[in-house]
This record gives sequence, C-alpha cells and structure tokens, in this order.
Amino acid sequence: MDPQRIYKNFIAGEWVESASGQTFENINPADSNDRIGQFQRSSGRDVAKAAAAAKQAYQSWRLVPPPRRAEILFRAANLLANRKEDFARDMTREMGKPLEEARGDVQEAIDMTYYMAGEGRRLFGQTTTSELPDKFCMTVRSPVGVCGLITPWNFPMAIPAWKVMPALICGNTVVIKPAEDTPLSVYNLVAVLEEAGVPGGVVNYLSGIGSEAGAPLVRHPDIKVVSFTGSVEVGREVAHACAESFKHLCLEMGGKNVIIVMDDANLDLALEGALWGGFGTTGQRCTASSRIVIHKKVYEAFAQRFTERACRLKVGNGLDPGVQMGPLITETQLRTVEKYVEIGQKEGAKLLCGGCRLTGAIYNRGWFFAPTVFGDCTPRMRICREEIFGPVVSLIPCDNFDQAIEIGNSVVYGLSSAIYTRNINNAFKAMREMETGIFYVNAPTIGAETHLPFGGTKQTGNGHREAATAALDFYSEWKSVYIDYSDRLQRAQIDT
Ligand code: NAD
Repeated sequence: MDPQRIYKNFIAGEWVESASGQTFENINPADSNDRIGQFQRSSGRDVAKAAAAAKQAYQSWRLVPPPRRAEILFRAANLLANRKEDFARDMTREMGKPLEEARGDVQEAIDMTYYMAGEGRRLFGQTTTSELPDKFCMTVRSPVGVCGLITPWNFPMAIPAWKVMPALICGNTVVIKPAEDTPLSVYNLVAVLEEAGVPGGVVNYLSGIGSEAGAPLVRHPDIKVVSFTGSVEVGREVAHACAESFKHLCLEMGGKNVIIVMDDANLDLALEGALWGGFGTTGQRCTASSRIVIHKKVYEAFAQRFTERACRLKVGNGLDPGVQMGPLITETQLRTVEKYVEIGQKEGAKLLCGGCRLTGAIYNRGWFFAPTVFGDCTPRMRICREEIFGPVVSLIPCDNFDQAIEIGNSVVYGLSSAIYTRNINNAFKAMREMETGIFYVNAPTIGAETHLPFGGTKQTGNGHREAATAALDFYSEWKSVYIDYSDRLQRAQIDT
C-alpha cells in the first residue's frame, strides 16, 4: 500500500478532508517502519457536518421498506466476503492480531451483516388481544434517528458491524468514529457499504481522536442514540454527556473474566481453552480469560503445564506464518502491562513466566510483551480485580466449587465466565450463579456468536445487549398500536 496514502472522511456520500485539513498517521504496532497511511483528524466541525447529513438522510431512509434496506446489506455482506483476505491483512497491519484472528474478525462482520439483512423481512412485533370488543392491538418497531457510534481498536471491523448493521436495518442513519489506532478497518467497512448502494448521508464516517471527535459526537443535539464500546473511564464520561439530553445509550466496557477449572475437568481441554482465552488477541479482548480459578487438587499440575505452554507461544508479527500472539496495540498499553507486572510482584503473586518486554531483531520495532503467568494469586490482588488488557493471566487456587463461584463473582465486571467440569450439576449451578452476561461450559470465555446477545452485567455495561435480536431493541422504539373498530367510545379499565 502507498505509505503516503491519505484516507478521507465519508460525509453525505462524499469522501472529504477534515475541516482543519489535519491528519494523523496509522502505524503498524508490530513494525514502526510499516506506515499504513494518513487519516483525517476530525473535530466538532466535521461532527456537525456529519450529523446534519445523517439527519437529512434519515427523513428518507426511515421510509425505505426494510426488505429494500436489507438488499443493500446483503450486497455489502457479499462484498465483505469477497474481500475478506485483503481486509484481514489490513487489520493485522493496523492492529497486530495474527492473520487467522483478523480473518475471524472480518467473518464476524460478514455474519452480522447477513444476520441483520435477514431481519429486513422480520423485524417482528406482536399482535395481541384487547380487553375491549372490536379492538385490535399490535406493536411495531420505529427507528430512533441519528446514531453516534464509537468503537474500540481490538475488534476493528466486527464491533463497528455490530453497531452499524442493526442501526441501518431498523431505519436509523449513523455517524461512526472508530478508535484512532484502527481507522482503516472501518474505512473498509464504510467503503463497502457505499459500493453496496447505501444512499448518501445514511452512513457517515469520521476518523479522529476521542476527545476531539468522539466527545463532540456524543454531545451533538441531533445524535439521538449513542452506542459506545471502550473503557469504563471513557464510558462514564459518555454516560454523563448523554444524560443531559436523555439520549439512548448502550455501553459495552471492560471485563475481568474467569475460567473455573474443577478437579473433575478434562485438564487437556481446560489447558487449551485457558491458553486461547488468556493469550488470544494478546489478552486484548474484553472477554479475555485473565483469571483462572483452579481447584486445589489439580492446581499444581495445571499451573505447571499452563506455564510451560504459555512460555512456548510464538510471538511475532501477525502477518508471519505460525505466529500465535501479536504485539500490544501501543506503547501506552505496553507501559500499563509493565505497571501491572510490577504491582503483581509487589502484591506477592508468583511470576511463573514472562513479565517483560520482548527484545531482539523481530521485536525491536513493535510493542511486544512476553506471555505472562502469575501463580498463587489471591482474589483481592489488583492483578485479579482490574482489567489489564494484555497477555497476563492470574492463576488462583480454590478449595471447592462454592469458593470458585465466589471468587469468580468478586469483581466489579460481569462480561464472561466459564467452567470446565464433567459434573453436569455443577455446570448448571455455575450457569445460574455466575453474574455475567455470557457463560460457557467446557469452553473459554471468548468465542461469542453473532446471533446471541452480547454484553455484560455490573460495570461492564448499562443493561443493553449487542448482536442478535437484542440489538434491534436498542436501535428501535416500540410503538403500541390500538385500533378500535367498534364505532363507539370504549374506555379501557372502565367499560367492562
Ligand atoms: P477507549 O475507551 O480508550 O476508547 C474507545 C473509543 O472511545 C475510541 O474510539 C476513542 O477514540 C473514543 N473516545 C476516547 N475518549 C472519548 C471521549 N472523551 N468521548 C467520546 N469518545 C471517546 O477504549 P479502547 O482502549 O479503545 O478499548 C479498550 C477497552 O474497550 C477495554 O476496556 C475493553 O474491555 C473494552 N471493550 C469492551 C467490549 C465489550 O463489548 N464489552 C468490547 C471490546 C472492548
């Protein structure tokens, strides 16, 4: 790709420069020599233009029959499928995850686009009875208006698709601002939607820094819906901004997810799951299995084998064949991980492997950190309570099932949890007791599918869910309709 390439914003169906003319650079976190391109550094003025375009386009898009909207989404899904390999490569370059994982990310966007296209011929409401004679009742979905979508860098195409596709099929228009570290994947997604025939103004794309472009977007009066995925700190700010004018708000934030390994578990299976859940995407998944709570009877065996395998993970540039773990996204993220390794050691956790930045020829131009395992952890340690968002896994021994559940639930987050056991009763009890929005049996905490609701309890979210039909509930409003064909005044609750 041309390193000088300048990527523009997409507003009102046109590719345009930011109002200030300023840009910022997108650089490969695995290789600082790999300069991907310049992206527009947008500000409040660009947000105003995009919001105005989306507001205008909403007046006609909301009236397009949903099956017609769906035809555009079907075309977009086909285009995404055709270009999956190119988009996955772009993603690995800008985000760092191994190519195989990047393909999975694009596939998730494809799945979501097909899924929501299918909803164009459903968007079901209810027909129901009335307490009065000659009266008909039903519910219909209405779009809400212009949606402001703010997305993180760890799933650069999947998460944007989770937001854009349900918003569009419901008849809303959107302004999306991707994370500053991964603007290319959303650029690719938006270019595909343009090619698929989305009318001008229905989808608007602004690249930029959170405080400069994201903050004015969530505050803009014409933005009626805000969907945010990112950190708790920024999520709180966004929530305050939206409260002012009671915008619809969906927050998807952090996690401190747990795998429970019981003494009756298939240990080989648990080991594979914990490695994938803990170190997949370099631990930079909101659903990463960053805590493993292990029954004391199998703790030593598990800890030893897990550490051996973690040390041997092949770390490198995600474009190189055989690489199992890529770099961290930025130097800031690397410093955060280093800080937590120090905290863990000070708290008395036993560093079993890793704990340092990787150096050497293939590592010096990127933000590489060794897969890190802490053993003999206790639930109160900060490394067991706070989201690190890196390749750091804490092993916590436990005495029994009840204690494992208690430890699992002892954090402020509630995104994903898992249990490895062959005891069906304990599997079901854990399903009931774990306070998370997602729960797995004999599988790690990662691996969500697009037709099931996605989201978390407690400080992970604010009660909404993404994906599945749950997303439709967020991007539409219910309208309850009563049709009286009795030709007389009938009073509910009074005329019997
Ligand atoms: P972040 O909060 O730093 O940034 C997220 C987005 O918000 C970016 O687009 C950023 O530019 C924007 N932003 C920053 N400041 C803003 C402001 N003041 N106003 C409006 N927008 C602003 O998060 P991140 O580092 O990109 O992502 C990592 C976090 O995301 C982790 O905490 C992770 O757990 C979370 N995450 C959650 C889910 C989930 O579904 N629960 C999924 C993926 C990531």
